[in-house]
Amino acid sequence: MSDLTDLTISESLKKLRNKEISPVELTKAYVENMENNNAKYNAYVTTTAELALAQAKEAEIKYLNGTNRPLEGIALGIKDLFCTKGVRTTACSHILDNFIPQYESTVTQHLLNDGAIFLGKLNLDEFAMGGSNETSYFGPVINPWSKEVKLVAGGSSGGSAAAVAAKMCAAATGTDTGGSIREPAAFCGVTGIKPTYGRCSRYGIVAFASSLDQAGPIAKDVTDCALLLNSMAGYDANDSTSSKEVVPDFSSFIGQDIKGLKVGIPQEYRVDGLNPEVAAYWDKAAEMLKASGAEIVSISLPHTKYALPTYYVIAPAEASSNLARYDGVRYGERVEGNGLDELYINSRTEGFGKEVKRRILIGTYVLSAGYYDAYYLKAQKVRRLIKNDFDEAFKKCDIILTPTSPIEPFAIGDKKMLENPINMYLNDVFTVSVNLAGLPAMSLPIGLSQKGLPFGMQLIGKAFDEGTIFKTAYQLERSANFVRM
Ligand code: GLN
Repeated sequence: MSDLTDLTISESLKKLRNKEISPVELTKAYVENMENNNAKYNAYVTTTAELALAQAKEAEIKYLNGTNRPLEGIALGIKDLFCTKGVRTTACSHILDNFIPQYESTVTQHLLNDGAIFLGKLNLDEFAMGGSNETSYFGPVINPWSKEVKLVAGGSSGGSAAAVAAKMCAAATGTDTGGSIREPAAFCGVTGIKPTYGRCSRYGIVAFASSLDQAGPIAKDVTDCALLLNSMAGYDANDSTSSKEVVPDFSSFIGQDIKGLKVGIPQEYRVDGLNPEVAAYWDKAAEMLKASGAEIVSISLPHTKYALPTYYVIAPAEASSNLARYDGVRYGERVEGNGLDELYINSRTEGFGKEVKRRILIGTYVLSAGYYDAYYLKAQKVRRLIKNDFDEAFKKCDIILTPTSPIEPFAIGDKKMLENPINMYLNDVFTVSVNLAGLPAMSLPIGLSQKGLPFGMQLIGKAFDEGTIFKTAYQLERSANFVRM
């Protein structure tokens, strides 16, 4: 019999419900992988194996009593950006490295209510700022697909994607402000969806850029993503931006056919620097969808070239405001000084890493009197144009197909993130527009490069139409037949 951790969540649930396996057995298998492999990949920054086994024992009783909560006995990893009651939550920043929340985030509470088990907290770029997990206070995550050279796992949810790929959890939570679920999922050969803005509550998730942040799952396949999103989504009175839109059963879209579905290919996404292998897979993915009955149409998203500069004005602006609360008084790390100002300065100097400081500086600059109109207000206007592009495009198509990242996973240290961040920012070219427009998008693995590294494809849907993403992604997944690690 293959290892229990090879099973997807949907397969595991079948076996759990038929009493072929027990939650304790299944959880122990994940704990073993976590304990044996974490030193190698650095995916978890906090492990809670004992807690997980205690939860598994409870799940065992639940199964004996015949209750059937949708995720009973499924062991998950949690991105360390979600507040977990009584379990250290750091955002992978020194400034929060001893912070123990008094409350649970809404999304993780939903998962617990549905019977999920938590194995620990997963590594990320500091405050989710980055695309390679190299800005984490706890060091980079190693991509489990690495061969001789250690490769990045992508970011910011690098720990989540790596842990799923290396079977150190059945699935994980992620967050996505400009690509942080999709890019690491692509780099690690797993599947992740950023739902529509407002689908999941942001309550209890450490804020990066509030108008862009969304939670979502990273899992082994499309079916598992649907199961998780069913649990994570929903209106929450604690988050005024969460949506009252009805949450459909996302699993019901799995297996639906896509005959006659119009798939848009945005011409502006054929950017300079697009890896030719990625481009070839993009064409191949379109062919696969066509073979499943979809119609391929060419579309235009004319403001694409402004997406990165717009994102890198708005995201730092919101971040600088959100991060003002870390003052050494109310949370985490405090470094004393002569008087209050010095205490602030010392705590923030010591507590924040280089990339976070850079974003605070950019953010306060673009928001300052005299520059506000030129940068921040301008960026808000362009954001609207980018959204309008999508509105126009969706008059011609039902879903959009693009690569997730223009490149394959690169070596740790390769992009010189801290010296020249622009190199890194450019990798977000296909993901940030989606957040600016508030749309849902999924990344799923399509195949391997010649070097044997995974590539991801992105499917972008209309607002609150994750269903079309799920049915299309499922068909593409079947055609691509990607072999997981
Ligand atoms: N890579 C992007 C950034 O550095 C996106 C990060 C994210 O989605 N959290 O901001």
